[in-house]
Amino acid sequence: MKSVYINNHGPRNVLTYGELPENTPKSTEVKVKIHSCSLNRLDIFTRMGIKGINLNLTKPHILGGDFAGEIIEVGQKVTDKKIGDRVVINPGLICLKCENCIQGFTELCSNSGRIGLTTNGGYAEFGIVPSINTYHIPRSISFSEASTLPTVFLTAWTMLTRKSQLKDTETVLIVSGSSGVGAAAIQIAKNVIGAKVITTTSTKEKALKAKALGADYVILNNENLNQKINEITNNQGVNVIIDHLGQKTWENAFKFLAKGGRFCICGVTSGHKGEIHLGQIFANNQSIMGTFMGRHKDLEKIIQLSANKQIGNIIDSEFPLQRIKDAHKLMENRNFFGKIVISI
Ligand SMILES: [Zn+2]
Repeated sequence: MKSVYINNHGPRNVLTYGELPENTPKSTEVKVKIHSCSLNRLDIFTRMGIKGINLNLTKPHILGGDFAGEIIEVGQKVTDKKIGDRVVINPGLICLKCENCIQGFTELCSNSGRIGLTTNGGYAEFGIVPSINTYHIPRSISFSEASTLPTVFLTAWTMLTRKSQLKDTETVLIVSGSSGVGAAAIQIAKNVIGAKVITTTSTKEKALKAKALGADYVILNNENLNQKINEITNNQGVNVIIDHLGQKTWENAFKFLAKGGRFCICGVTSGHKGEIHLGQIFANNQSIMGTFMGRHKDLEKIIQLSANKQIGNIIDSEFPLQRIKDAHKLMENRNFFGKIVISI
């Protein structure tokens, strides 16, 4: 099958387009004819072997966690899926046997993994995944659109609803609204929750796109963030911060977090270290909430919201599988808004 794989960590030229053998699904797995796979920054980190990611796998390794396609083969014990089903993959691997899984807290699975990271992913014609990782998609959602849903929307959903429990009377600051998770968070915060949404970005063009998604206020990176937030919130600060940059945001974040505020972190793109004034945290009843992906079944809700057109339509550009290096280059150069998709 046509695939893009890596044999070593490194720059874009380790991405190799070529033929790999096809496999057969085990009893609880399905084989998917992949139509679309969306990129995440995690793909870059996995390729580069940075941020603590080092492959310890049977190589060659196929990247890509967010993909959608049609089921073409099912394992002997699979009863809830059939050949021809249109599905999107939840890349979160769970065991359903550990104490957390049994209680339904699959996001805390003790034996978790991730498709495209700990197993082969979606930069290929075919993928083999556990049946429980596939979710039906209606015909109204294209494969490209479906491939953008799992990672960024699950993460944004978890931060905004399950963790911070943002309310429609509150204000949220979404750092870097042009990122996949930023764009997803703008839509959920505005179209689903109805909160006041502030976001940041680098250019006026991206600011227009963020407003079109639902942002009430867009602050450019060259503007005084602290002053702008004080103006918008009448010096009260924001109730929730959604951030994936890490170190860069952390330096000032608590200056504009309101009393009772919740700081949600889901990435460390700009660095992973930060100092904190612990006294300010308890004196102001603030919370710090870490999020990686989300509860498995929440993807059903996200698919429903996409079918209702409340979220989605955040595709920046699509590339054929052969042009994977160009797609990675675009993501590394940060000159995009939303999601980059690979068509297969
Ligand atoms: Zn588990």
